[in-house]
Amino acid sequence: MSNDESNPTIDKIAKLAIVIPCYNEEEVLPITAPMFLEKLNLLISSKKIANDSYILFVNDGSKDKTWEIISELADSDNHYKGIALSRNRGHQNALLAGLMEAKLDCDITISIDCDGQDDINAMDEMIKEYYSGADIVYGVRSNRSSDSFFKRASAQSYYRILNKMGVEVIYNHADYRLTSKRVLDELANFKEVNLYLRGMFALVGFKSTSVYYERRERKAGKSHYPIRKMLGLAIDGVTSFSIQPIRFITGLGVFMALFSFLLIIYALVSFVLGNVVHGWASSIISVLMIGGIQLISLGVIGEYVGKIYLETKDRPRYIISDKTDDKKDK
Ligand code: UDP
Ligand code: MG
Repeated sequence: MSNDESNPTIDKIAKLAIVIPCYNEEEVLPITAPMFLEKLNLLISSKKIANDSYILFVNDGSKDKTWEIISELADSDNHYKGIALSRNRGHQNALLAGLMEAKLDCDITISIDCDGQDDINAMDEMIKEYYSGADIVYGVRSNRSSDSFFKRASAQSYYRILNKMGVEVIYNHADYRLTSKRVLDELANFKEVNLYLRGMFALVGFKSTSVYYERRERKAGKSHYPIRKMLGLAIDGVTSFSIQPIRFITGLGVFMALFSFLLIIYALVSFVLGNVVHGWASSIISVLMIGGIQLISLGVIGEYVGKIYLETKDRPRYIISDKTDDKKDK
């Protein structure tokens, strides 16, 4: 994953932007925001990051008081900033919006969820790795004991399947990561609308490393990743980076063709031998089976056609409607 080119831009204390997407988080934000600020201040006072480092909240079209809370935070302390998207665009787009906004005014970003599940103390080590020359530092969960058995099992098998299909993703890494500005400058050239950021950072390249942390329970509120959205992200992860599923269908087609060829021979032999009447069950089963396989195959191909459709429209991935900085300038 790594190459030897070390980052030439590290000759001063880096300006950090902590990027935090928030969707309907009025319950948890008042708890976690001060924790992020405390961490930022500690990092500043220990001279690990520049004085004007800041926390950037991205309000992803929340329907509750999240934006009001972010605005109040921004009024209360200069280290808090916020941008608001014009509507809910989902975690990946919100995060991208935050990263693209932050890169205009920072040397490094750390992206993290706002629910306090990710251990903020891993930031020290991430920053240390940056000064040692890493452009991307992945936060990797050392355990998943706070997740339900189902979430844990499904996530682990998912990473395995992705890797088998040739998609480079870091095992047990979500979107808690440090990235340097030059990585974000390159990421900006990836114009796809079907976002799967974890996979895209691997494609951008540069020197990368991982730090390990324990993932905890949410501090408050509830997960916005129900099974439906999890499956959606999982399918995006596969179909945005791999055409293996389409190849698999071709293989399946070849297999079915061979199989039916054998069945035809069997049927002819039975006919010649004269025992032809029974076999209703086997024929109905094979019809149903082939029907099912065809429908699934069409679905998989449709998934890719749908992706092409969305990509060709080239619509903006997010629209920023408000910034707390704008209010201050007035
Ligand atoms: N999030 C977002 N937009 C959405 C859904 C979620 O910005 O449409 C944010 C959410 O506020 C949180 C992060 O993405 O900061 C992760 O979401 P969540 O904690 O609900 O997911 P989980 O940790 O359960 O996978
Ligand atoms: Mg969470």
